Order: sequence, then C-alpha cells, then structure tokens
Amino acid sequence: MTTQQLTEDHTSIQTYVQELRHQVDGIEVLEPGTGTTRYSHDAATAKTAAASGNPGPAVVLPLSATEVQTAVRLAAELGLTVVPRGAGTGLSGGATAQQDQVVISTEKLTNVIEVSPLDEVAVVEPGVINADLNNHLESFGLFYAPDPASFDISSIGGNIATNAGGLRCAKYGVTRESILSLDVVLPDGSLITVGHRSIKGVTGLDLTSLFVGSEGILGIVTRATVRLRPIPVARKTVSAFFNSTAEGTDGLAAITLSPVRPAAIEFFDTPSLANIDAHSGTSLRERGAALILIEIDGYGIGDQAADLATALSAVGGRVTVESDDDAVRLWELRRSGRGLPQDKWYIGEDIAVPKSQLPKVYAAFPALEARFGVDISALSHAGDGNLHPLITKDKTPDDGANPPASLLEAATELVKVALSLGGTVTGEHGVGTIKREWAALELSERSREVQHAIKAAIDPQQTLNPGKAI
Ligand SMILES: Cc1cc2nc3c(=O)[nH]c(=O)nc-3n(C[C@H](O)[C@H](O)[C@H](O)COP(=O)(O)OP(=O)(O)OC[C@H]3O[C@@H](n4cnc5c(N)ncnc54)[C@H](O)[C@@H]3O)c2cc1C
Repeated sequence: MTTQQLTEDHTSIQTYVQELRHQVDGIEVLEPGTGTTRYSHDAATAKTAAASGNPGPAVVLPLSATEVQTAVRLAAELGLTVVPRGAGTGLSGGATAQQDQVVISTEKLTNVIEVSPLDEVAVVEPGVINADLNNHLESFGLFYAPDPASFDISSIGGNIATNAGGLRCAKYGVTRESILSLDVVLPDGSLITVGHRSIKGVTGLDLTSLFVGSEGILGIVTRATVRLRPIPVARKTVSAFFNSTAEGTDGLAAITLSPVRPAAIEFFDTPSLANIDAHSGTSLRERGAALILIEIDGYGIGDQAADLATALSAVGGRVTVESDDDAVRLWELRRSGRGLPQDKWYIGEDIAVPKSQLPKVYAAFPALEARFGVDISALSHAGDGNLHPLITKDKTPDDGANPPASLLEAATELVKVALSLGGTVTGEHGVGTIKREWAALELSERSREVQHAIKAAIDPQQTLNPGKAI
C-alpha cells in the first residue's frame, strides 16, 4: 500500500467516525488505533496480530438494529468495508479486521427480548452469550441446545454466523437446527426478517439457512428467534476406557449400533489423554489408552446406561457411570483440559467425516507422522464425526520465524484424507481467512461460482467481510 493510499484510507475512516457520530446522537464509536487492536483478530489469529503490532480498526458498538443499519449504510456510502463481530472467539480468522475497516461489534446487543414456553422459542439479540441465555432459561425449565465448547464466551450471533456445533449436537443438531427466524441488516443498510416463528414454514427460498453459517459476508444478524427444549428430567455421564485408540474407535461404532442415542459422545485418543494429564495434572492414562465420554439424558436413564454398558463392554470398554462431581470435572477437561505446546510448532484442524469413517482417520495418523516428521493427536465430537486434530512439530535452531513447510503439508494431507472419506475441511469453525485454500480442495469450481454469485447479488459492492469464507 502506498503512502498516499494510507493517507486516503485514514481520511475516509476519520470522516466515517465523525459523520456517524453526527448522524446518530450518542452512538459509541472507537477510533482506529492501538486502543482497538483487540478487535483486529479472533482467537485463532491473536498471536499473529500481536506479533504484527498493527493498529486496530474503527469499532462501532450499536445499541439497536437501527444503529447497525445506519453504521452499515454510511460505510457503504463512503466505500468502506465492514467486519461483523460477536465475541471474537472464532477459530478461522472470520472476524479479523484491518485499520481501514469498520468493525460492528454486537457486544452491547445483549437483551433476551422474549421467552415463550408455549411456542418453545426465545427471541434474542445477537450479542447474548450462549451460557447467559441458558442461565436465563433455567427458571422456565427450558434450554437452548447448541453448546460449543466456547459456550461461556461466544455469542449467539457468532454461533449463528458460524453454524456452531457443540458437544450435545450429537442428539440435538447443530445451530441451524435451532434457528427459526432472523432479522438481518443487509450490506446496503436495509433490514429483512427471514424464516418463521412457527416450527413449520416453507414460503419462498430458505434464506434463514443461507444466513446461518454465512460468516458475516451476507448480512449482520440483529435478532434471532431460537428453538428451545425442556431441560431433560435426568442427565448422566458414562465413561468407557479402552486399551488403544483403535479399540476406542470400535467402541464408537458399538454405540451407533446400539439403541441408545446419547446427547454427547466425545472421543479422546492416547496422545490427547497424555496431553490432558500433562497439562491439567490428571491421571486419565492410568485408566486406559482411549476414552469415550458420553452424556445420556431424558427418561429411562438407567436402561440407557445398561444398554450402553452392554454394547461397550462387548468391544473391550471398561464402563463407569460417573458421579455428578466426577462428571463435571471430566466435561471441563474435555472443554479446556488440553494444552497447546508453546515450545513446538502446531496447527489445529476441524475436519469432519461420516461417523463410520472415524477409525480410518485415526488409523491414517502414523503414516502421516512418519512422512512429515510431525505428531498428530485428535479429540473428536465423535457423535457427529467431527475431529479436532492437533498437529505438532519440534522447533529446531534452523527454523525461521515461520513454521516449517512440512507442518502445513501434513495438515493439508490430513484434510485430503478426510475429503477422500466423504468428509469436509471444516465441521464447525468455518472457513474464515484460514481455510480458504482447503475449501477450494472440497468445493467444485461451479459450486464456488454459485457462492460468489450469491454474494454479488446481496453485496455487489463487497461491503461485508470481504475476503472471508468463500
Ligand atoms: C476454547 C474454544 C472452544 C471452541 N469450541 C467450539 C465448539 O465446540 N464448536 C464450535 O462450533 N466452535 C467452537 N469454537 C469457535 C468459536 O467459539 C465459534 O466459532 C463461535 O460460534 C464464534 O462466536 P463469536 O461470538 O466469538 O463470533 P466471532 O468470533 O466474533 O465471529 C465469528 C464469525 O461470525 C461473524 N459474526 C459474528 N457475529 C455476527 C452477527 N451478529 N451477524 C453476522 N455475522 C456475525 C464474524 O464476522 C465472523 O465471521 C471454540 C473457540 C474457542 C476459543
């Protein structure tokens, strides 16, 4: 970028800030600079953003959909681009922003507008934190099912924009299955409502599904009508330890073939258990070399536990119905027990495959490890075939500032393994900026053309989150 361009960008962003303050009395706008650096990255890109030392974008903190509309419309008029932002916990670089961009953050749009037990819906603003919604719903005896491991730090709007998955998605589905209707501010500043408050509704194209998972490139969600369910009468955690990763993956098939449909089925391979023990001071490896952690819920919990024990014992599982206290600890370890090796290079992935293919993905690790000189481990949301592999490589004195090419090559080969098994490059984190090249391996050229045509039809000026997702 030339000095003249930088000066012009700076001038137009300054004009934007002044004009927005003029148009909306009292609107909260943060000037671009070092004070807004935290809005320039998400959880995946924090390290690189900190290393770059670049100043942050202009940030608007609207209090209403009308303020979002004005902020978007003005940006479009001035030819600026806009990055929608929830809580910034994304793991794909989807909410990253430069100094010459406008971030519209939903962090002050935190109202639960309505809870209707008879319609089994809640109407919420996008900045509501997932866990806060469920705390609010508890007294109604209801819950909102999609529960990303980031449930206590991520926003409903961000969950919708990434079509977030979670632990209980094995039984209750991903975010899309819980979204009935959305209010969306489009890139020209107009506001539309898509979908229906009713459970059924097929009028017109299904734009709700189009906006869910669109990573902020088509519109900004300013309100959502979400589906609720009764809190189950009982919940129990069952663990099954095995002697090897391969035996553990056999256990996963045994659950699928049983009549039980657990709410959550999480799988830990041998190195993941060792990592958690080293990082969290536990001794899970003493109990076995692979773990399936299961939550069952609803009526007949004793029968469900017994059927699971029969199915898992038959394939070598050592099954325990955990106490409530141990269950809380085990789920906490699943969410945040694994450590990232700061003394090594690493890449995290989010591939997904049909459930039946999980054993083949794990079985592919040793050959990739030998070929690229890396170590691979993976936790997985096994109930829906979604793995989070962690690929690491030792640092050597010859390495420069960037990871060796072999690390990325190993990660790309693993993505190709998933694709060859009928899988996908991203199960739940989204494409963002980080996985665009891998997405090109999965999507045909014509399919990508269609996606760009949809983007161009809704956002001809490329105002919203350009360079992301597609
Ligand atoms: C510890 C940890 C665990 C995680 N576990 C999971 C998991 O189990 N499952 C899972 O799916 N993800 C998980 N994630 C990733 C992340 O939490 C999810 O992607 C989450 O949905 C992002 O929400 P957010 O509010 O932080 O969105 P952000 O990171 O702020 O934004 C994410 C994307 O959504 C867009 N966006 C945000 N708000 C809006 C809006 N109102 N309208 C339009 N676009 C918008 C942004 O532009 C960006 O493209 C995890 C992350 C961490 C750090």
